[in-house]
Amino acid sequence: MISLKKPEQDCSEPDCPFHGNLKVRGRVFEGTVVSTRMQRTVVVRLEYTKYNKKYERYARMSSKITAHSTPCVPVKVGDLVRIAECRPLSKTKSFVVVELVKEA
Ligand SMILES: [Zn+2]
Repeated sequence: MISLKKPEQDCSEPDCPFHGNLKVRGRVFEGTVVSTRMQRTVVVRLEYTKYNKKYERYARMSSKITAHSTPCVPVKVGDLVRIAECRPLSKTKSFVVVELVKEA
């Protein structure tokens, strides 16, 4: 079970883990918001390191994933957010923004 911090704001979004019927399970990531141009969807960049055996060093990698953004957790570009895995909400979306960790 993923423990979530309930936001102070309310919303009437059905796909909200706090005020709707969306269940979250699976993985939780922290990443930076890089785009908020879609409706109720944000693009989050995840940064991680990957070990390279040949050079015996870590390489910095990043990937972008789309996440559902509910009105009760307002986010902007540059914000550090926590996202949690949920059921697939669309073709590319199976994560939801659950917490604003650090504002830009
Ligand atoms: Zn909500």
